[in-house]
Amino acid sequence: MINKILVTNRGEIAVRVIRAAKELGLKTVAIHSEVDKDSLHTKLADQDVCIGPALSKDSYLNIPAIISAAEITGADAVHPGYGFLSENSKFARICADHNLVFIGPSGDVMDKLGDKATARKTMSEAGVPITPGTGIIKDVAEALKFAHEVGYPVIVKATAGGGGKGMRVAWSDDELSSIFPIAQAEAQTAFGNPDVYVEKYLQNPRHIEIQFIADKHGNVAALFERDCSIQRRHQKLIEEAPSPALPEEIREKMVEAVRRGAAHAGYFGAGTMEFLYDEEAKQFYFMEVNARIQVEHPVTELITGVDLVKEQIRVAMGEKLSFTQEDLKIYGHAIECRINAEDPYMNFMPVPGKIVDLHFPGGPGIRIDSHIYAGYEIPKYYDSLVAKVLAWGRNREEAIARMRRLLDELRIEGIKTTAPFHRQMMDHPDFIRGAYSTKFMENFKMK
Ligand code: ADP
Repeated sequence: MINKILVTNRGEIAVRVIRAAKELGLKTVAIHSEVDKDSLHTKLADQDVCIGPALSKDSYLNIPAIISAAEITGADAVHPGYGFLSENSKFARICADHNLVFIGPSGDVMDKLGDKATARKTMSEAGVPITPGTGIIKDVAEALKFAHEVGYPVIVKATAGGGGKGMRVAWSDDELSSIFPIAQAEAQTAFGNPDVYVEKYLQNPRHIEIQFIADKHGNVAALFERDCSIQRRHQKLIEEAPSPALPEEIREKMVEAVRRGAAHAGYFGAGTMEFLYDEEAKQFYFMEVNARIQVEHPVTELITGVDLVKEQIRVAMGEKLSFTQEDLKIYGHAIECRINAEDPYMNFMPVPGKIVDLHFPGGPGIRIDSHIYAGYEIPKYYDSLVAKVLAWGRNREEAIARMRRLLDELRIEGIKTTAPFHRQMMDHPDFIRGAYSTKFMENFKMK
């Protein structure tokens, strides 16, 4: 049983977890850095503990301070949110060693999936299609050999990579020969592991991912897809569900593949399997598993009616999933826009500052997950996400109309945000037609 959850995160996701815990009748403890003492999550939790100075490495990544906070407050579980320590297998094991229920998969499962080359192997054993690619290779000659087999372009990826970092595309032998050692060196610097592998680079894919959740009794449910193709520098900007591009028969195949893959990995907890989807060939290729709740999870909650965070907590307590695959159905359409403290007219440059006035819209079909309030000062130390705004409609058209209405009404005064970008997107003919790939932002210009 769980009585009190230590939420080892900040921002909107800490708020989201606290809300879920409250609905389940559980107590919560917020941790915060010195600069986050007035952040909303500290106000909403039953207790809060300062765990160190502003820099993440001294606070939200400071494992000894976090474990002490759990011990001092008598917390018996840890919810890591996303980012920070959420996919750190060492942290998951340390929690278990301290009799804290880690709300997420085990350290062993994380190790199996956290490394991209190993994850590809695990998934292909389960019959999940993967992008044509190599295993870890040390030598540029092997990379060239593979490129000659599949043809250019190819992408060199750090097996330990994440967050859109550690990837380089090559279009020719010369380019591959020169970037290969650079990619290895970058992987070493960024992730402490120089291992890279090479895969075929798809030219106009969609990024389609499937949300799944598994309990400890062998039940795995896949909650359909999210289309996250609108990205800038491999960072997602808009997510929607269902995908405007996925035929029903492919959806069914993906759901099947994900359930097989998760079961094969011995997964429990919530997770996401990311795929590239080639619309012309109607082929999907496994990219990676994210072994945590994701930023864009509310899109799935809106179309399925499932509260994923509550379900995460329930399965961590050893309960069975509260629904079966057959119970799940897609209801309507949902879109999420990430409102970041960034200036879309200045190349999306981060612009921290103080929010002097704030109005969040309401009305039918609107959901806003955020930690900001009027008077809140956005610290410069962390990510720039200030609000996730979501619109649901009976169909895609209604969801878009509601998102326009939401963005017109939204007021975040005192800082620059990405809201004007999203508002333009909602009028963009290609977005309206659902005709976009991961390359969309390469040609997008703000009006
Ligand atoms: P990360 O773990 O850093 O998020 P991913 O492997 O999930 O990295 O890839 C992030 C993004 O990079 C994808 O959403 C896609 O846009 C692009 N990408 C990755 N691999 C390929 C590929 N083989 N072909 C085309 N695009 C790719």
